[in-house]
Amino acid sequence: MTRPVIPIVANPAALQGDGVGCHSGADQMREAARAAGKSDTLDQYAQDYPKGPHDQPQSMCPAFGSLRVGLRMKRTATVLSGSACCVYGLTFTSHFYGARRSVGYVPFNSESLVTGKLFEDIRDSVHAYADPDRYDAIVIINLCVPTASGVPLQILPKEINGVRVIGIDVPGFGVPTHAEAKDVLAAAMLRYARSEVQAGPVAAPANRVTDRPTITLLGEMFPADPMIIGGMLQMLDLAAGPVVPTREWRELYSALDCAAVAAIHPFYTASLREFDAAGRTAVGSAPVGHDGTEAWLQAIAKACNVEQAKVDAAKNKLLPAIRAALAATPIKGRITLSGYEGSELLVARLLVESGADLRYVGTACPQTAMSNTDREWLEARGVHVQYRASLEQDIAAVNEFTPDLAIGTTPVVQAAKELSLPALYFTNLISARPLMGPAGAGSLATVINAAIHNKPRMDEMKAFFGSTGAGDRAGVWEEVPVQRPEFRAEVRRKLEKAAKKRKAEEMI
Ligand code: SF4
Repeated sequence: MTRPVIPIVANPAALQGDGVGCHSGADQMREAARAAGKSDTLDQYAQDYPKGPHDQPQSMCPAFGSLRVGLRMKRTATVLSGSACCVYGLTFTSHFYGARRSVGYVPFNSESLVTGKLFEDIRDSVHAYADPDRYDAIVIINLCVPTASGVPLQILPKEINGVRVIGIDVPGFGVPTHAEAKDVLAAAMLRYARSEVQAGPVAAPANRVTDRPTITLLGEMFPADPMIIGGMLQMLDLAAGPVVPTREWRELYSALDCAAVAAIHPFYTASLREFDAAGRTAVGSAPVGHDGTEAWLQAIAKACNVEQAKVDAAKNKLLPAIRAALAATPIKGRITLSGYEGSELLVARLLVESGADLRYVGTACPQTAMSNTDREWLEARGVHVQYRASLEQDIAAVNEFTPDLAIGTTPVVQAAKELSLPALYFTNLISARPLMGPAGAGSLATVINAAIHNKPRMDEMKAFFGSTGAGDRAGVWEEVPVQRPEFRAEVRRKLEKAAKKRKAEEMI
């Protein structure tokens, strides 16, 4: 089949200088993207995902969030369009995290980018993928360079052979974190599904098992948590609906067809806009710990007009059990907590209710209305909450509070361990546990108390190794490393010169 060639004004500025990677050149790429017609997308991202106090938290490539959402969905093909190094890193990371699907890739070079051939290649690839026996949807993700050069995914066909086509721009210079990139794709899918619902009858979900009004759960969580939440909702004559991002297309319809949305993770701003457009109320926070569960049940009941007697009966049953579980498994020790998942404030509440002396919570996510209840609750208990936390802020908190346990991202854990402080990875060890209701109360205590008790082992290791392999003498050396202060002075001189030059250029 021959398809017409669509002329595209690609922007070669996207390939200039050093501006082709996330290590530098974000401003130039942003300018290039605007010049290439992506202003509306960037403005929407700026509104949905506000930056500051600094530009961008140090975390993985944001596009990983969208890629992960696409790869976890059944009968969905996910295709990347971007630089080979970005695609290599993203593919590697997705398989490291257990993706069971292939990642599609449309490669480009400067010629195919500048002539618009890349768009043709993407369109051909979409047509090749569009097999309704295998796929419900194809997701195309523009990474930094194709976004900066204006590759117009919006003019791809919306549907081919009954397979939906969803093109999104997820540049590192427009979407601050991988958490928010999950929202970009989830919202694009909700928008598409909403337009299908508006157009006429849609397929019933394959696994709907209840006739009760449902609560859609927004945010990825430990697999047992939706079931635990479902058990609590049952007491209010409600049921747990799908978790968004969903695992299959038809779940999007039932997600939209809910009584209310529980924004368990508070950063899904664009998805919440879609629910709002569908006339659904959103409730923030989550049923974590005693106070969190009480407030959440009340808020859900209010959103769904549940009579107070039912809410009181649920509270009378659940809250004593939660209080007992918290009391039976206390956490004793000073803790700092940081992460980029979006559930940091919920974990923080649970730690405080378990008795931990929590001083600091840093999250890479922005402040949103949906996390205000949690922030206020934590601040009332003397916990410093830092949104859009930088690595420097997280490490400064560890240095300031010298906690008995630092929970954080990989570099925070490394920094804590260098100080011989026990530390746990948030993503692997904390996120991988139930947090909600009676099951969540006490689920963190075992791993946290065990880590805190490791302090003597950390001290022993520190005493044994001393400063071996620390700082710039790390690595494998065949001879005793020689200090070169003159090299260091030369590098510093060059850096200072470059900084002065940059400043002078800024003033022109
Ligand atoms: S796509 Fe990701 S890895 Fe590639 S330049 Fe952009 S932010 Fe960096």
